[in-house]
Amino acid sequence: MRGSLVEGGVVYAGVIIDQAHPSLDRVFHYIIPPELRERVQVGMRVQVPFGTSNRMVEGYVVRLDTAADVPDDKIKAIDSVLDDYPVLPQSMIPLIGWMKEEYHCLSIEAIRCMIPPGLRANVKKKAQKLVFLNDYGDVVEERIDHIARKSKYMTDVLRLLAQQDGIPLEEVRAVTGAPLSSIKSLEKRGWIRIEQQEVYRNPWDYEPDTGVQPKALTDEQRSAIETLEAALIRGCGKFLLQGVTGSGKTEVYIQAAQKALALNKQVIVLVPEISLTPQTVERFKSHFGQRVAILHSGLSLGERYDEWRRIRNQQVDVVVGARSAIFAPFERLGLIIVDEAHEDSYKSDMQPRYHAVGVARKRCELEGAVLLLGSATPSLTDYYLAEKGMYKTIKMKHRVDHRPLPPVEIVDMRKEIELGNRSILSGALYRALADVLQKGEQAILLLNRRGYAQFVSCRSCGFVVKCHNCDISLTYHAYDKTLKCHYCGASYPYPNVCPGCGSKYIKHFGIGTQRAEEEIKKLFPQARIIRMDMDTTSTKGAHQRILRAFGEGKYDILLGTQMIAKGLDFPRVTLVGVIAADTSLHLPDYRSSEKAFQLITQVAGRAGRGPRGGRVIIQTYQPQHYAIQFAARHDYVGFYSREIEIRRQFLYPPFSHIIRILMMDEKEEDLIRLAIDTRDWLKQRIDGSPVLKQGLIDVGAYSAPLERINNRYRWQVLIRIRPDDIYKQAYHRLMDECLERLMGVKETTIVDFYPLSLL
Ligand code: ADP
Ligand code: ZN
Ligand code: ZN
Repeated sequence: MRGSLVEGGVVYAGVIIDQAHPSLDRVFHYIIPPELRERVQVGMRVQVPFGTSNRMVEGYVVRLDTAADVPDDKIKAIDSVLDDYPVLPQSMIPLIGWMKEEYHCLSIEAIRCMIPPGLRANVKKKAQKLVFLNDYGDVVEERIDHIARKSKYMTDVLRLLAQQDGIPLEEVRAVTGAPLSSIKSLEKRGWIRIEQQEVYRNPWDYEPDTGVQPKALTDEQRSAIETLEAALIRGCGKFLLQGVTGSGKTEVYIQAAQKALALNKQVIVLVPEISLTPQTVERFKSHFGQRVAILHSGLSLGERYDEWRRIRNQQVDVVVGARSAIFAPFERLGLIIVDEAHEDSYKSDMQPRYHAVGVARKRCELEGAVLLLGSATPSLTDYYLAEKGMYKTIKMKHRVDHRPLPPVEIVDMRKEIELGNRSILSGALYRALADVLQKGEQAILLLNRRGYAQFVSCRSCGFVVKCHNCDISLTYHAYDKTLKCHYCGASYPYPNVCPGCGSKYIKHFGIGTQRAEEEIKKLFPQARIIRMDMDTTSTKGAHQRILRAFGEGKYDILLGTQMIAKGLDFPRVTLVGVIAADTSLHLPDYRSSEKAFQLITQVAGRAGRGPRGGRVIIQTYQPQHYAIQFAARHDYVGFYSREIEIRRQFLYPPFSHIIRILMMDEKEEDLIRLAIDTRDWLKQRIDGSPVLKQGLIDVGAYSAPLERINNRYRWQVLIRIRPDDIYKQAYHRLMDECLERLMGVKETTIVDFYPLSLL
């Protein structure tokens, strides 16, 4: 009889086709021809005939079956096997279906997260010309949607670059099949650029820290590692490591990873962004040498593919990388560490809109691994879940060497205005900077640009205009001079005088880093200032160059956006200044206080890491705000206790779960009609189902705070439900139905079941 692969006559393979279209999103059965029966395994990439024309397409074997859902005379055969080994480890196959359900993506979109683009391109050689995106995130997605109807090639090129930026031109063409004219046309639109590059150099050229001696652990570190080791031996456990800045969390990560390796297990370490955390990464490199792979965005497609193969062949035991490294194809996964787990960068802003911590939790469950979330400022939800017993909390309350946390001084900028000081620097920060410069020490200045010019506040009393229904700051709309609430849709006239104190100094708020730099240069002509923001870091390796130059003492002041707040350990920094702490406080977002607290605490933690000590100065128009007060006292628990009550009162997460359906279109009227129609349809469905009805808190259709991007209007339907699993499950199914219903419409629709931003 047949030489079947498994006893019992497995001759059919369930294949997911590598074509991203909802109508093709299912498992297709193929017969395995006799000559391939010894070779075909789950997780393998195969070539199969598809459609009426039987054109050859790639696909992935996700299961082997003894029966097929197609009659034997109709079924097609697998044409060939494309690799010598399963590109997807067996242990990750269940993750595909899970992602499809959780994130409402296509199976193939989930698979594409798990394999490097270079594999699909069959890349071998390198080229000289590299293609880069000019913009990132939602803008790219908008452009993809915009161009999708016009050009498949251009769409594919953008998609590819969104997955992996800076790809050799030849590789772009090989992967997408796009003619040069399509690529040139994208260049002409200003969406991409093509840069001539010398032979590709790994931008990761930090010297390893050769002077590492094994550290004598602090008591807190030792106890944390013991707890983790016990869990590793058990093969399960979810931990929230809350350690103040400078408490030595990285050392705990490293030693916990060593314990995992000693147990013959493998480790994934996620960091918010590789280029922003060079020091953390370097410490892993110097500890694990050849056994570590660093997945960073500076890798070319080919290099990334090489690294992925090293991981797939189990030649490394530790992977350090940003969000997408959560898909590292390990077979003996024992530990996943998420550093700065509260960071929003763990959430993908492209399809599939996964959250790396969500995927991490699932992988740990599927593969018997331990999860460790580390942060000085855990997300409110994580801390809440820890209190509920979902995570075991490990606390580290003291800095290494018993260095004190730096004293924080809050400066009331309203008083500065009263004194006639309109400069961006208060008297206190000015004097502190002068002092630092005179002593030859260093300073970090943070200018948070999130929420730039969005909210309206009073410079005299700090009053912030908020919605009466939602306790969310209103957003200023320049074109009709109104203030709007993007949670409930209420509209308010722009106040001429402050409703709080009657002064006329009420206006929308904001200043850019460039202007800040100019002003500081004027005040301190002798100071060497280096600026780090989106503008100065657009080229490859720019982050590392800036941080290294600052670390080497070539500059006195590092001025930057929130990208400078994380993970930096510069002992010579004795002053940290926050130029405007308010900006993120009043985003139209229920998390704005949380984000402000996290940012201030994190950036304050950059000070006083050396023997000279340090201090922090926070400038604000709202010195009494609890987020600022608690951050100044380094009091996480205090902040948590206060904030969680507000969430409870207004039924914000974790006391509710918000689902977002974002819709975009050039024609505003059509869009509004669609949003309202969708909302009404949802209401009707909810009314007809007891579970949905019980789970609902509210549902509404609103214009998104970012009302128009690239001439496309944006509306959203927000559904707020009770956070219990039973309701989430029911609403997952409702979203599937909703997507199906919207499949035919030309407006772009994104269902995000776990939105972080509602902008
Ligand atoms: P965190 O990540 O909690 O902010 P780090 O891990 O960066 O803290 O540690 C802060 C500093 O203390 C680093 O320079 C690190 O090398 C050092 N360090 C960590 N653990 C120890 C220890 N046990 N003994 C001495 N120094 C330590
Ligand atoms: Zn006022
Ligand atoms: Zn409102």
